[in-house]
Amino acid sequence: MEFWDEKMETMSRDEMTAFQGERLRETVKYTYDNTDFYRQKLNDAGIAPGDIRSLEEITRLPFMTKSDLRDNYPYGLCAIPREDVIRVHASSGTTGKPTPVFYSKRDLENWGHCMARTFYTAGVRKTDVCQIALGYSLFTGAFGHHMGAERIGAMVIPTSSGHTERQVMVIRDFKTTVLHCTPTYAITIAEKMMEMGVHRSEVSLRLGIHGAEPMTEELRKEVEEKLGSVAIRDFGLTEMGGPGVAIECLEKDGYHVNEDFYFPEIIDPETLTPLPEGETGELVFTTLQKEGVPIIRYRTRDITHLNRTPCVCGRTLIRMGEIKGRTDDMMIIGGVNFFPSQLESVLLDFEEVAPHYLIRLSKKGRLDKVSVDVETTPSYWANRQDEDIKSLSERVQNRIKDIIGFTIDIRFVEPMTIARSEGKAKRVLDER
Ligand code: ADP
Ligand code: ZN
Repeated sequence: MEFWDEKMETMSRDEMTAFQGERLRETVKYTYDNTDFYRQKLNDAGIAPGDIRSLEEITRLPFMTKSDLRDNYPYGLCAIPREDVIRVHASSGTTGKPTPVFYSKRDLENWGHCMARTFYTAGVRKTDVCQIALGYSLFTGAFGHHMGAERIGAMVIPTSSGHTERQVMVIRDFKTTVLHCTPTYAITIAEKMMEMGVHRSEVSLRLGIHGAEPMTEELRKEVEEKLGSVAIRDFGLTEMGGPGVAIECLEKDGYHVNEDFYFPEIIDPETLTPLPEGETGELVFTTLQKEGVPIIRYRTRDITHLNRTPCVCGRTLIRMGEIKGRTDDMMIIGGVNFFPSQLESVLLDFEEVAPHYLIRLSKKGRLDKVSVDVETTPSYWANRQDEDIKSLSERVQNRIKDIIGFTIDIRFVEPMTIARSEGKAKRVLDER
């Protein structure tokens, strides 16, 4: 078996816990000493930094949320002098001010290391040609993937996102073997390949690394089939520094978390109490080796579970389950809670249905109503009869009713009418 960092990736649980405890102690003290924000927060909670001596004591520490980051925009959480910051990235800030992260030289080195470790886990090697079809911008994604592939010694092609025709040309002409992009952009690229008459057998793609948004198993199948390659999910978030937090190994049985850098917990989002291992709840992360913007107990809003049993691949790094959704994406319709990804799973299970849909939320009187616009595959659409669409709608509707528990209006639309994504797809349109 091959590892990028065998010692940390295969460490015994006891050793890892001791390592994390030590790093937590240092992080709490460091953060207390170097940010007014955290000093204040701990003082308010009546905790002295020296009180936190072991990993279990993490539960005494207060949580941080997105609004802590926003309220301290731009430099408030930065724990190093401005002149020691050598890189800045930020999240999109679609719902407010962007959240910046500042990297010290060591932060960038560690980030590159985490990226390389994750990609190696997914099977990227020096012989690969890696096409980074993620946006090079303030976002973390492209730069993180770029560093990781470069560190492994692969050949890196920084195409950025967009210009889909050119992406296809590069894939074909440069014999790209690894495609780095969001799952929905992978589908967009695959469709463009078909449109340009480039068959998957003419390209050298063997692996796709897809993150930044959910990819259900059903969508994964579509991506793999259309591109003729293996699709692996990767996970990260700006607040932790970007991607490189976790990745699936080729077993595709959970994401291995780089837990020596990012300590994960699962809490009940209502009561905020930690949940026993294996239970599903909100994911919380603490950075254990950050200098620029150390973060303690950050509530990600992502819903998943953790599993400490060692993996068949030989890694002992804790595994995180698939992200079911985000607490802020959860919809409650007629008293039933559901996430867009649950709907995606049901829809894509029908072979007539294409992986393009838009969930619309509206109001009918005082009641919330959900409907969904969905494309069928082009061949189904071309050969359809009116009765076919009606019966397909009924079958899909019944399946949704059985599996999720409510009735939803389905509207089948012509292929290529739902907007294609070059990054994270927008799946929900709130018209209320
Ligand atoms: P990025 O630019 O890397 O997407 P953001 O901070 O904008 O970073 O978004 C991070 C969020 O994206 C996560 O908290 C999570 O909700 C979502 N995300 C990232 N990777 C995945 C994944 N593999 N599956 C599901 N959601 C993901
Ligand atoms: Zn594994």
